[in-house]
Amino acid sequence: VVDTIATDRCVYRSKLPDIEIKNDMSLHNYCFQNIGAYRDNPCLINGSTGEVYTYGEVETTARRVAAGLHRMGVQQREVIMILLPNSPEFVFAFLGASFRGAMSTTANPFYTPQEIAKQVKASGAKLIVTMSAYVDKVRDLAEERGVKVVCVDAPPPGCSHFSELSGADESELPEVDIDPDDVVALPYSSGTTGLPKGVMLTHRSQVTSVAQQVDGENPNLYFRPDDVLLCVLPLFHIYSLNSVLFCGLRVGAAILIMQKFEITALMELVQKYKVTIAPIVPPIVLAIAKSPLVDKYDLSSIRTVMSGAAPMGKELEDAVRAKLPNAKLGQGYGMTEAGPVLSMCLAFAKEPFEIKSGSCGTVVRNAQLKIVDPETGAYLPRNQPGEICIRGSQIMKGYLNDAAATQRTIDKEGWLHTGDIGYVDDDEELFIVDRLKEIIKYKGFQVAPAELEAILITHPNIADAAVVPMKDEAAGEVPVAFVVTSNGSVISEDEIKQFISKQVVFYKRINRVFFVDSIPKAPSGKILRKDLRGRLAAGIPK
Ligand code: AMP
Repeated sequence: VVDTIATDRCVYRSKLPDIEIKNDMSLHNYCFQNIGAYRDNPCLINGSTGEVYTYGEVETTARRVAAGLHRMGVQQREVIMILLPNSPEFVFAFLGASFRGAMSTTANPFYTPQEIAKQVKASGAKLIVTMSAYVDKVRDLAEERGVKVVCVDAPPPGCSHFSELSGADESELPEVDIDPDDVVALPYSSGTTGLPKGVMLTHRSQVTSVAQQVDGENPNLYFRPDDVLLCVLPLFHIYSLNSVLFCGLRVGAAILIMQKFEITALMELVQKYKVTIAPIVPPIVLAIAKSPLVDKYDLSSIRTVMSGAAPMGKELEDAVRAKLPNAKLGQGYGMTEAGPVLSMCLAFAKEPFEIKSGSCGTVVRNAQLKIVDPETGAYLPRNQPGEICIRGSQIMKGYLNDAAATQRTIDKEGWLHTGDIGYVDDDEELFIVDRLKEIIKYKGFQVAPAELEAILITHPNIADAAVVPMKDEAAGEVPVAFVVTSNGSVISEDEIKQFISKQVVFYKRINRVFFVDSIPKAPSGKILRKDLRGRLAAGIPK
């Protein structure tokens, strides 16, 4: 018997009232809904070149790219891959695909050919937008699967130039009737377990998520048309795509694009363009806190520093507060599958609330959050840690072609189970204290242990392997492997590290290898990761 009164008391809501969210429109129409008021304002600033694109130019270019995609044979509900660092073309390609009614799967351009191939095959991408430097990584896909390759710079033979998309005639685009439940973004995430999977984020989910953050009388994330948003986090990750690009477009702010993070360049750009909002991640927060250069630049324009994607300790928060006294500093908590934002710091609201250091904010509006006992599923009261679950129209539709994984993550009542452990305190603030799930976060980047384990056991000298996170000051966490060698065979730690390095992007590299006689497993065959994490915490693993 469910005690409904107790249950109600354990479902948490925002301290801000719900708002009316019209989420039955396309993401692009929603982002450009108020463009009439700021058509000639700067929309994208290319930090490397100083080039500026107005809102009017960005919208027109996106429509042309949509027509160009149509001309190149991309149909509605088909997938394109964007394999680019942050750049205006990234934005044009994404919005163009949205206008076309197609979906974008985004990938890290530093991925190895194997990693890219896995995602292209799994997502069924028909066309890849990339740069000439990365074409060699996708050439096999072009030859074997007929995937078209479009380059934003001088295209090598066999590839098209981006101007074939952006130079198309808008009028060539046929009428596209977008169902709000169509997928618009398809990032890959391993979620609570297993290999990376395609996360189906629909127009409705993205409109809802952005509205939860920046719409309404008293927005949780108060962005204004005169704001300059720093876009240094990679747009291929949903944090930057959603909370920087979509939120920025929705309010008409200027988005300053940095291709990659470098502390001096970052400070120069902040000073030059008078950046007001800086969405960053703990390693960048750390770089700012530690850099002696901070005092040499005028960073006083920054009024909001939001950190997310990985935990930020109280000490680090306090250190940055001392360096940037004019800025409000706080955290947001996101997960790709959750759309992505679950909670946001209420100090960022137009009418701000007092907040505590170390808090991940309060659940966003128009959503419900609960904390449950991970074993029994029972609702837990305030101040008691358990698994964080979220419900609302912003969460993913499911994993692409993986109903079983979807069912494991979203239960019958529509609750998405995050695999994160946290509690809500008496002031509605959420604190994350641990992680139940396997995923490793290297500077906020996902590393899926299952992916590394699958590669490790392909080595003839390795009989079994398990990968778990180890704490690291600079990266937060790094992957380490426990390895059982095959009968009688010899393999060194370095050989194993190199074997992995050749096949994965830099942040998935194995940091340490511990040789063991067996991998601890439950009778079901599941690796007892907690046991291995415990051995690491206790010191020298045996
Ligand atoms: P991703 O899907 O790559 O965005 O990774 C989501 C995961 O990152 C979450 O489930 C958390 O484990 C972690 N994470 C995100 N934001 C925070 C935060 N503010 N504090 C602690 N962990 C976080």
